[in-house]
Amino acid sequence: MPGRLQNKAALITGAGSGIGLESSILFASEGANVLLVDINLEAAEKGAALITKRYPNTKALAIKADVGKEADIKAAVDLAVKEFGRLDNDPHDAQGIMHPEDDNALNTEERIWDLTMTINLKGVWWGCKYAILAMRENPTDESKGLHTGGSIINTASFVALMGAATPQLAYTASKGGVLAMTRELAMVHAKEGIRINSLCPGPLKTPLLMDFLNTAEKRDRRMIHLPMGRFGEAVELAKAALFLASDESSYMTGTDFKVDGGLSSAYVTAL
Ligand code: NAD
Repeated sequence: MPGRLQNKAALITGAGSGIGLESSILFASEGANVLLVDINLEAAEKGAALITKRYPNTKALAIKADVGKEADIKAAVDLAVKEFGRLDNDPHDAQGIMHPEDDNALNTEERIWDLTMTINLKGVWWGCKYAILAMRENPTDESKGLHTGGSIINTASFVALMGAATPQLAYTASKGGVLAMTRELAMVHAKEGIRINSLCPGPLKTPLLMDFLNTAEKRDRRMIHLPMGRFGEAVELAKAALFLASDESSYMTGTDFKVDGGLSSAYVTAL
């Protein structure tokens, strides 16, 4: 059985940890060649080595890039095209930061706002820009299911859809920007066969959130609102990313794809 991403090429940022790492592994297991991009090169290389060992028929490479720098993103996309000959999937913003000093409107400093926006929002714009340029040039081979165009997945968050009295203002605003930008990009590029969707995770048991919720009190404050009574796992988001990346979601573009354990539908949760 060919994998769902057989002969395809994926570039994944934030691939050293959490959703990005799990997506890289899952995409490779479905036949994709994967470029793991992260500011933490050691973590990305570790992921690539694991994939190469587990799935020797796929190519897995790592590159250091700061998504806050346009030249770094361009270099990563150029490398993917050079090594794999094409770029089909670009769930490129599995990177993200949630700064410990990100707070409410009164306490958040401008430098925290700017840093968060640069990584979480501007980095997504640049990722989309270079992915779109590459996807337009994709060679076609209908016998192998290879077309021009591709699927871009921008990772937003449930906090872009609902308010919280435990504020992280810059993070929330950056994720709202990801949703709005993704919808517009999706409309502009729909007729080119480039699908662009947002993935909206609920709270997950990854370093990003667990480092932020560094006391039992902070974790419990959120837990009472979680319908399933647990935080999600990164691999549960990777499975959703795989669906968005594959042709199974061929008629989906511009969506806010929620994978949040029911959180955004909750009023009162079960005891
Ligand atoms: P994570 O912290 O486990 O992984 C994030 C990765 O991004 C790390 O490997 C880190 O080195 C990398 N990174 C950070 N800054 C970077 C930069 N400037 N350039 C390149 N790479 C950089 O995080 P995660 O939980 O897997 O989160 C992934 C995405 O999902 C983020 O966009 C996050 O905002 C979003 N999200 C997470 C949660 C959650 O609860 N964890 C909830 C909603 C949305």
